[in-house]
Amino acid sequence: MADGVPRPAAPVAAQSARVIVINGDEPGIGFNDPTPAVPVGGNPGTTRGQQALNVFQRAADLWGRNLQTSQPVVVLALFSPLACTATSGTLGAAGAWNYFANVPALKQGGTALTPDTWYPAALAEKLTRQDIVVPDDLPIELIAFFNGDLGKPGCLENSGWYFGLDNQQAPNQTDLLGVVLHEFGHGLGVSVGPTSASSGNRALYPSVWERYMRDATTGKRWLDMTSPERAASARNNGNLVWTGATVTRAIPSTLEFLATIDADGVGTQEVGAATYGPSLARGLGLRGVLVAADDGGGVSLQDGCEPYPAASTVAGNIVLVNRGTCNFAVKTAQAQAAGAIGVVIANNAPGFLAPGGAAAGITIPTVGVTQAYGAALRATAPLEVQVRLDSSVRQGTTAGFARLYAPTTFAQGSSVSHFDTSLTPSVLMEPFITPDLVSKVRNPFDLTLPLLKDIGW
Ligand SMILES: [Zn+2]
Repeated sequence: MADGVPRPAAPVAAQSARVIVINGDEPGIGFNDPTPAVPVGGNPGTTRGQQALNVFQRAADLWGRNLQTSQPVVVLALFSPLACTATSGTLGAAGAWNYFANVPALKQGGTALTPDTWYPAALAEKLTRQDIVVPDDLPIELIAFFNGDLGKPGCLENSGWYFGLDNQQAPNQTDLLGVVLHEFGHGLGVSVGPTSASSGNRALYPSVWERYMRDATTGKRWLDMTSPERAASARNNGNLVWTGATVTRAIPSTLEFLATIDADGVGTQEVGAATYGPSLARGLGLRGVLVAADDGGGVSLQDGCEPYPAASTVAGNIVLVNRGTCNFAVKTAQAQAAGAIGVVIANNAPGFLAPGGAAAGITIPTVGVTQAYGAALRATAPLEVQVRLDSSVRQGTTAGFARLYAPTTFAQGSSVSHFDTSLTPSVLMEPFITPDLVSKVRNPFDLTLPLLKDIGW
């Protein structure tokens, strides 16, 4: 930051909250990068820096319209270069600048914070209706820094930010607006806060989040657990859930019915429905013989990326292929061309797989299964399988509550402070930005705003 005195950018007009982006970059870099740029996707900026700032302001505006607070939410934002090479780099991050506890409600209409509980700065100020001033500290609520060099020569140059405001990024681009909206979400309160997600240890007090996190196996809230119990819960895949009433009420309007696959001798598993192609039919769904037919060549005969040979057994059957080499929709298109009635894609790494992307002309359904389940299918194929929707359960829920991300192997920066990847359709606060996201934070499109309301917004 230049001399520690950020220049204020124009405040974003908003009906409810005023979310103000302050440009903290030095002259000539980041938001002040004068590199000429062609207006793109509704972003009228004519320099790279101006376009980036426009994206941040749009994200601030979207949040501002959805939140209510009498206190300005000030975001110190930087778009300066971060560590980067041609093949790897830091994208950026954001978070609450401070957490506060035991702040009294001084103003009329204000609410005292629940005693001995950490609140992110912007929420603490909303509830108490005051600007909580810390001596010798910056008067900001959020900090956000992103790698402005992404996509430039020498810095992940085959990827790069998309600066449009319409979510129409190319497959190799990262939608900056989606990433900034997501990171602002963390800064506003989608975070376990000062409590260590990994060890479960607290910084003196619990965070407000811990009231709403429950382990579905033990039935305990994080608030009532010991540190080792919290650490175990953070790794209890599929069983760490959010019990806040607003999120739970929003589930039926936001998440799809649970899709499962059942195969004799292999068992039943949740599947991820593809974001392209037709939805699974209600009732019996997709039923047929699953075959593990080889495709016509290429990197692997099992990736389904090449046309199938004329003598293949694909026609009239469901095809099992492995993830990798080509886009998901390419696999489905090849199987469809060979007469398949559906496609099952096996993940190539641990974890849930919902095949993403968009494609025209796809008329058969596609689902993703785990790597282990796919291997078991392959060992048993051909066999009868049924993929169906369970209208009594929503995808990404356990015991009726939305799952938080709690993989068995702890993921620093991702575990606990996100929704689980099994939620379908994908929501903004999953740990990985998916290409099908739209810039919305409220239900029925998303669960971020309901979650923030649960903690007091
Ligand atoms: Zn995140």
